[in-house]
Amino acid sequence: MNSASDNESLLQQLLDLHRIDSEIVDLEREIQGSKEALTAMHEGVAGLDDALERIDTELEHARREARALERAVDEKRDALNRLRNRTNKVQNERQYSAATLEFDLVRQDLRKLEDQTLEKMQVVEELEDLRKEKAAGLEGAKIEAGPRGQQLEERVKELEEQLAIKRDRRHNLAIRIDDSALALYDRIHSGRSRLAMAPLTEDMACGNCFTAVTTMQEMEIRGMSKLITCEGCGVILYPTHLDK
Ligand SMILES: [Zn+2]
Repeated sequence: MNSASDNESLLQQLLDLHRIDSEIVDLEREIQGSKEALTAMHEGVAGLDDALERIDTELEHARREARALERAVDEKRDALNRLRNRTNKVQNERQYSAATLEFDLVRQDLRKLEDQTLEKMQVVEELEDLRKEKAAGLEGAKIEAGPRGQQLEERVKELEEQLAIKRDRRHNLAIRIDDSALALYDRIHSGRSRLAMAPLTEDMACGNCFTAVTTMQEMEIRGMSKLITCEGCGVILYPTHLDK
């Protein structure tokens, strides 16, 4: 049977391990967060790039349609002029009314085409404004992404170095701890995000989930005669004086 002081040092070793594990979890979370921020930033720039490309395609299409409409208007105007000349040369009433009818029809077509051309030019103009706005947004995002991205990358590198040191330290601590105690600790720790140990409160409850312990367990915890886990949340319980 182990003496109380052996167990005190075992609990102390586990607490040291627990502290390092908390720090490792914090570092891992911060690395994860920085990497996510970096990805989001790159995706943001890529998204703006895609949006601009789509506007460019749309704009090119609209400009082509506008040019085609302008050509159609020109052709219709020529046709109208030719009809006007013909109307001036008619020789009788029948020819005159036929020419006038055709003239009116072509003139109606011309008006319609002119309206369509104006509408299309309006679309082109709106797309040009939108393009300008999006291009400025992309430019701004790129300018911002440069130093911010570099900052984040440097931070990740720094944190990863710290993490490597902590893991090394953890390894050196763990090899000195009794195998079965370490196995118990690791089992609890791998099952939760960070907490594997908690102090026993003054009113005989778990410091993590506040489940009460029995008098027998309290004596064992305070006496440090063996490792006691909480029946509520499973953490290893230790007497508070070890925290100090
Ligand atoms: Zn508990």
